[in-house]
Amino acid sequence: MEYLKVKCHRCGNSFHLYNRDMSHEEKPPHCPHCLVQMDKTQWERLIDAYFTFAEVNKNFRKYHTDRGEPLFQVELLTEKKYVKPEKIVLNDDLTGRTGAGMCKESCTEQGYHRL
Ligand SMILES: [Zn+2]
Repeated sequence: MEYLKVKCHRCGNSFHLYNRDMSHEEKPPHCPHCLVQMDKTQWERLIDAYFTFAEVNKNFRKYHTDRGEPLFQVELLTEKKYVKPEKIVLNDDLTGRTGAGMCKESCTEQGYHRL
């Protein structure tokens, strides 16, 4: 059973969206902590992306069972810390190798952010 974990960067809290929430009949969700509402267009795109993603994982399971195909289950993870683009400093060495930039802020996580 899939669900989405959504981080609200207005208040810094997270909430979950479950299958039952993911419907074009539903209004865009509010953050339950600070009540800010998701943009309608982004909500509709999120629903479509969610069902596409969930179906791929479901098919991995189905074809593993039916045809003995290798079983994979994929999670989409997003870096928790949002850094505004102007706060990212390019580092030539690093950029050449990884396409990543170095964050000026002291990051508690990986210290690097993809551009
Ligand atoms: Zn919030």
